[in-house]
Amino acid sequence: MDGQAATPGLTPTRTAGLERLQSFVPKAGGEYARLRNYDLGPGGHVHVSTLSPWISHRLLTEAEVLDAVLARHSPRAAEKFVQEVFWRSYWKGWLEMRPEVWGWYRAGLSAALDRTKTESGLRQRWADACAGQTGIDAFDHWAHELAETGYLHNHARMWFASIWIFTLGLPWELGADFFLRHLLDGDAASNTLGWRWVAGLQTRGKTYLARPDNIAKYTQRRFRPTGLAPSAPPLAGPDHPARRPAPGQPEWSAAPRSGLLLHEDDLSPDFLFEAGLAPVAQARLQATARRSPLTVAPLVSDFAAGALDDTAARWQDRGGADGGRHADPAALVDWARREGLDQIVAPYAPVGPVADALDDLEAALGPHGIALIRPLRAHDLRCWPHATHGFFRFKDKIPQLLAAMGH
Ligand SMILES: Cc1cc2nc3c(=O)[nH]c(=O)nc-3n(C[C@H](O)[C@H](O)[C@H](O)COP(=O)(O)OP(=O)(O)OC[C@H]3O[C@@H](n4cnc5c(N)ncnc54)[C@H](O)[C@@H]3O)c2cc1C
Repeated sequence: MDGQAATPGLTPTRTAGLERLQSFVPKAGGEYARLRNYDLGPGGHVHVSTLSPWISHRLLTEAEVLDAVLARHSPRAAEKFVQEVFWRSYWKGWLEMRPEVWGWYRAGLSAALDRTKTESGLRQRWADACAGQTGIDAFDHWAHELAETGYLHNHARMWFASIWIFTLGLPWELGADFFLRHLLDGDAASNTLGWRWVAGLQTRGKTYLARPDNIAKYTQRRFRPTGLAPSAPPLAGPDHPARRPAPGQPEWSAAPRSGLLLHEDDLSPDFLFEAGLAPVAQARLQATARRSPLTVAPLVSDFAAGALDDTAARWQDRGGADGGRHADPAALVDWARREGLDQIVAPYAPVGPVADALDDLEAALGPHGIALIRPLRAHDLRCWPHATHGFFRFKDKIPQLLAAMGH
């Protein structure tokens, strides 16, 4: 299935993201605050930005989205929208300081997938949920919407996850994996921690229960499902791991013979050029297939591939010789050796599939004496260390974080 043809408007270019940002900016104040919780279905997501596919690939950065919104609205008028953008930075920082939780998710997913091989009842219920054939009309609708468009409204994600866990009794990791295989904005931190939050594993003991009346109200009575679980007892799980320090800026110099490595977690490399990087060559790492042990939807892979190629084309004058797009770290080692590189510089990738791929690449480059440098951008360096506790403590820092950005 071709991503652009299937979802008109979800074009994986920075230009398309900027157009969407411009059309959303007037709504980011009062309209967003009042109406953002309404899920009006495909074609009706007009009260939210639907910018997440571009933001999660950083075709647009969080900072420039905030700048555009705050050029039009006061921080107070746009408070709700600003907070949502910072939720993303908060989840990222939380997981950076507790990377074990990504490993736990991957191990839990592996165990759940093993169970589906021996437990036919579970396998059938999981298959029905993924295919949108549970008989719960709202849930089935969202499963289809996700598979067909690569997007779900935030409220639908919450209801869907809650029904998956508490009504259908399916392992949450299988649901998080279903999302990661189909969401254009699939993101290790927001997705894993969003599912854990619904399940009561993130804010310990506090779960999210999908209620028929709430669904009816916020879908404007398109749905009022019956048979939903009446309660949501929290799942059991280990305590949060001990918090590590947030990552710091690596010592690096632009002087050695450098290659630029683009990847789907951060496609705004301008901060590297501003730091003096003058690459002789550029290549792209596509790690989309690593989002799941199962097959990632073509819609998702196509969006990431298009976003990578768009970025290479935009920066072709500064990026050096084009070394192509690769999924296999071994191909990137060959590229680096062919180009005689001393170092590869890639924007920092937060905990998740791209970082896993970069770790593999770094290990493979080691014997050849080629370094992999991963500089962080200012926004992440500023935000992440504040994700020490819950979002409410982080939220208090938002004025300070905005001031550091010049607002
Ligand atoms: C179970 C579950 C899974 C989720 N999985 C993902 C995921 O894989 N990737 C992802 O980007 N978001 C995820 N979210 C968060 C949120 O649902 C989406 O970011 C949001 O719906 C994207 O739509 P939008 O761009 O129209 O959002 P808007 O409401 O317009 O918000 C603007 C931006 O703020 C950020 N944002 C908004 N809400 C959240 C939130 N709750 N958490 C983190 N960032 C937020 C996003 O970058 C978003 O693009 C998940 C939420 C839940 C409950």
